[in-house]
Amino acid sequence: MLENQTRGSHSRPTWCEIDIEAIEHNIRQVVELLGPQVRLLVCLKGDAFGCGAVEVARACERMGAYGLTFGNIDSAIVCREAGVTLPMLLYPTCLPAAAPLLSGHGMSITVSTREEVEQWARYAEGRLDVFLKIDTGGFRAGAFPNDAVEVASAIAARPTLHLAGVYGHSLATYLNGMAPQFDGSSQQVSCFVEAVDAIEAAGIDVPLRMCSSSEILLTHPRADLNAVDPGRLISGLPFDAIPSRRRTWRPGLRSLKSRLVMVKRIDSHGDVPVTPFFPVHEGMTIGLIPYGWSDGCPRELSPDAYALVRGQRAPLLAPVHSELLRVDLTGIVGACIGDVVTLMGADGATQIDLETFAHHWGQPLLDVYCTVGKGVPRVYVRSPYAAVTSQQQESA
Ligand SMILES: *Cc1c(COP(=O)(O)O)cnc(C)c1O
Repeated sequence: MLENQTRGSHSRPTWCEIDIEAIEHNIRQVVELLGPQVRLLVCLKGDAFGCGAVEVARACERMGAYGLTFGNIDSAIVCREAGVTLPMLLYPTCLPAAAPLLSGHGMSITVSTREEVEQWARYAEGRLDVFLKIDTGGFRAGAFPNDAVEVASAIAARPTLHLAGVYGHSLATYLNGMAPQFDGSSQQVSCFVEAVDAIEAAGIDVPLRMCSSSEILLTHPRADLNAVDPGRLISGLPFDAIPSRRRTWRPGLRSLKSRLVMVKRIDSHGDVPVTPFFPVHEGMTIGLIPYGWSDGCPRELSPDAYALVRGQRAPLLAPVHSELLRVDLTGIVGACIGDVVTLMGADGATQIDLETFAHHWGQPLLDVYCTVGKGVPRVYVRSPYAAVTSQQQESA
């Protein structure tokens, strides 16, 4: 059940489980939804949103995705060196001096301005594939639609540069209710399509046309064009969808677990003065797990936050320390060193689901995904998952 792990010595018994079969399922759903005319480039930003870029990239290869996109050149290189052969597009993430390295690795770059075109052309040794990004209102990277033809022509005029595609990204989806009246996504899609049409009308071929991230993919089918680049959806973060785009999506992040490294019953603490972090009473049993804020755990947890030990609730006791967290084991019969402590996920028939865990942390699900996966070693598991109780589980 427990497969390879990608990082960490695992001597410290704290780990998270990534359900690689859930991620495969999500990729398959998108491939089937789009059909053969639309290419899927999976966005692996943020180390695949905490799920691990290398393993998610391999899953993309197995499931027939067309390519990958990255927000960090180093992450892309790690995937290439791990043997991933799919086409890779880098969002703006590095300087033009990296051109020879990128050509060698078969990676495409992003440009927005004529200055970038000149700089990349200066450093390019062989052929360098270039995507032009269009700024449809995010005011981040991208040429404004008015300038798109000019920048595309500058790319086309350079013998070493090859225009591989044009993409945009509707940042309106990230407003998170900041401007409820603003139907930005629809306008941004239209704006993008017009800019691409103008480039093609100028006689420049645009092989890939892409402006659909997770939320757009599930709400604006006309934005499919001939390629899409969703990210969070593939890792299993939930989104609203229009009826024709509703599918089941499965969470890639399955659990966060540790083991008790100390169990202490408070029977006779003699004259030790009580530090009033929490009410202490005779017979109380405190357990420690090696996990804390230096691993990304919030310093302040919700007062009702709990873990599971032997299938029972063990309240988390404030404060969170740099590499230690206390659990209240009072009443959990037999709790001892080595028992699995489930902060999120299943413990036998009991479980803490992602939403409850995000509530314990007081954070949005996206932050939880990225933090958990980056803070501790990842163990890749496959469904169906034979739940193991803490008593049975011998080694992680
Ligand atoms: C982040 C990003 C995506 C993926 O966005 P999701 O909302 O995670 O699907 C796609 N395209 C670009 C340019 C991005 O920056």
